[in-house]
Amino acid sequence: MKIMENVYLVGSGQIGLSHPFDCHIYLVDGKDELALIDTGAGERVDKVLSNIEEDGFNPEKIGKIILTHHHADHSGGCKKIKDKTHCRIYIHEEGVKLVEQGDEEKMGLVVAKKSGLYSPNYTFQPFEVDVSIKDGDEVCVGKLKLKVFHTPGHSKDSVCFYIQDEGCKMLFSGDVVLFEGKIGLLNLSGSNLDDYRQSFDKVASLKIDALLPGHSLFTVKEGEQHVKKASLALKKLSPPPNFI
Ligand SMILES: [Zn+2]
Repeated sequence: MKIMENVYLVGSGQIGLSHPFDCHIYLVDGKDELALIDTGAGERVDKVLSNIEEDGFNPEKIGKIILTHHHADHSGGCKKIKDKTHCRIYIHEEGVKLVEQGDEEKMGLVVAKKSGLYSPNYTFQPFEVDVSIKDGDEVCVGKLKLKVFHTPGHSKDSVCFYIQDEGCKMLFSGDVVLFEGKIGLLNLSGSNLDDYRQSFDKVASLKIDALLPGHSLFTVKEGEQHVKKASLALKKLSPPPNFI
């Protein structure tokens, strides 16, 4: 589903595009190369790939999977998609061991299953990371450049990706900041309000048209209003509301 020039929504549990466990999965079209921002949980990779074909693309042109963080609803499809496309997988350096080892306790999956976000039968498929990224890096997808902002708080390895494309400024915000300024603070190891306060200003001052989070609504204009709302709340006594 085309949502703007060069960006497509190719999977999402919430709006029924793919498996219910899946986060929003975005396809970025850099012309010479395609990239996926997150993969969903991996239960309906076939559906994600067929959505990509229906949007007019050949999945074999996917050169990169670029992850917003390690949580299984975002990274669980990596193994299957890499096996099919031979793409390279990028994740922040804090997330590398987590996805390579696939320890469900350390990844928060045990708690998430108890909370009903996954069925008890779901198993995470570990995978090898090709490139570990850090704050300030730039990842190229064909003609497009994604700037990496390390924004821990939801998890230690959470990052946002910023693209300035022909007048449209986009922020892929994962579970860091969502529509209406909601955040993703969890009762989980690695999720930390201090980290939010210390890192959030990096994205709060960006000019953003499209805010493209991992869940809930996205917007193609005035995205910065939502980020600023969270930023203001993070400077007051009560934390911003959560998206979960
Ligand atoms: Zn998450």
